[in-house]
Amino acid sequence: MNILIMGPAGAGKGTMSERIVKEYDIPHISTGDMLRENVRNGTELGKEAKSYMDAGKLVPDGVINAMVEKRLLEPDCQKGYLLDGFPRTLVQAEAFGEIANKIGKPVECVIALEVGFDILVDRITGRRICPNCGAIYHIKGHPSKVEGICDECGGELQQRKDDTVEKLRQRMDEYENSTKPVIDYFDKLGVVERIDAGKPAAEVFEDVKKALSKVA
Ligand SMILES: [Zn+2]
Repeated sequence: MNILIMGPAGAGKGTMSERIVKEYDIPHISTGDMLRENVRNGTELGKEAKSYMDAGKLVPDGVINAMVEKRLLEPDCQKGYLLDGFPRTLVQAEAFGEIANKIGKPVECVIALEVGFDILVDRITGRRICPNCGAIYHIKGHPSKVEGICDECGGELQQRKDDTVEKLRQRMDEYENSTKPVIDYFDKLGVVERIDAGKPAAEVFEDVKKALSKVA
């Protein structure tokens, strides 16, 4: 099962990824993690990436593509993969499409999580984080027992600076502008499944499974 997952921050991409990985026994490959790992382990590609990062530049697509290709050829990807955070641009999508075909692991399904702006606002602005232990709460969905205090460690809960409506609008616009061409590209291949991610996680996952059953 070769899957890409896309969705704006707050759409529940992390939760769905966890469930997909468990259900289908495939690795979750986040390109951010992959990049950090390569740099940490000092691989050839990692060294190359680091030279750009140290110079304050973006790591070029070619380097990322090579990393992804290498990663997908590892034994744990035999049953497939769940790729997260990539491709982000049309150029990357086209390059990745070619690589995936070349190594015999073409994308079979793009899970596009879609969620209305109002629901995102609710999810994001209600989020509270414990700066001590990293626990995450939501004032409505998952409140701490004592308002403003972490259940785990007693830390004082905070709201992330970026968790405001204005920042959210900005992130959402950026997300839509950059991913639309990517989704259009995969739409032409007929592999996009749009999932309403505004529902409770359990229901969203049922829809995800239904979508994936078409390719399984
Ligand atoms: Zn805490």
